[in-house]
Amino acid sequence: MEPLLGFLYPECCQICGEARAKAADGYVCAGCWREVRFIRPPYCARCGLPFPGAVTDKAECANCHDRELHFGSARAAVVAEGVALDVIHRFKYSRALWFEPFLADLLLREAKPALAGAGWDLVVPVPLHPVKEREREFNQAARIGRRLADALGIPMRTDLVARTEPTRTQTRLDRDERAANVHRAFAPACAVDLGGASVVVVDDVLTTGATADAVARVLRKMGADRVCVWSVARAVLTAPE
Ligand SMILES: [Zn+2]
Ligand SMILES: [Zn+2]
Repeated sequence: MEPLLGFLYPECCQICGEARAKAADGYVCAGCWREVRFIRPPYCARCGLPFPGAVTDKAECANCHDRELHFGSARAAVVAEGVALDVIHRFKYSRALWFEPFLADLLLREAKPALAGAGWDLVVPVPLHPVKEREREFNQAARIGRRLADALGIPMRTDLVARTEPTRTQTRLDRDERAANVHRAFAPACAVDLGGASVVVVDDVLTTGATADAVARVLRKMGADRVCVWSVARAVLTAPE
């Protein structure tokens, strides 16, 4: 909120509506902040899915086992639940753009130390279908991706990958059919040779990783050498897909 508006409207937490919260914190108070669950090991080395319990001898989860993936690893900052999930939904579906610093902060706390100095060249947000982007008037992944790119001092490119088909309901498809369906939804948006670049794909929420994998697949086809995925939040599925 601007200083004048902040004077007219007391700055309060947009989650609990009670405690004071500042614009720089995305209008989320310290108490609500403490509810956010950051993802800590052990988790799947490939897709970042947290494993229940403290000790495990598994490296990859059941979902990644025997699955062809085009990204090296996918990570998320927090578990998609409670405050974090509520904020993401309001940010994306209700245009609650004042939450952007909060969401960017969640991602940057985890992604920046992991990525800085590791030779990453570009940030590519998961694109929306143009019809959906016109309706929503912004791409949430690009909003957050911009913050990450700036923090890492590397460019963000939104002109490389296009979403050519809106995703349809996939509930009646099995895992391989879903992957094929999602792969068909993305294509190169231009004839660029990425010449062995290392690319960070950014999204707001990672669920199965199928969408991010489809984007990684296109980038690899365009000549990217390494692709990793970072998202703000990871949906932790309790049932196998
Ligand atoms: Zn609060
Ligand atoms: Zn996995």
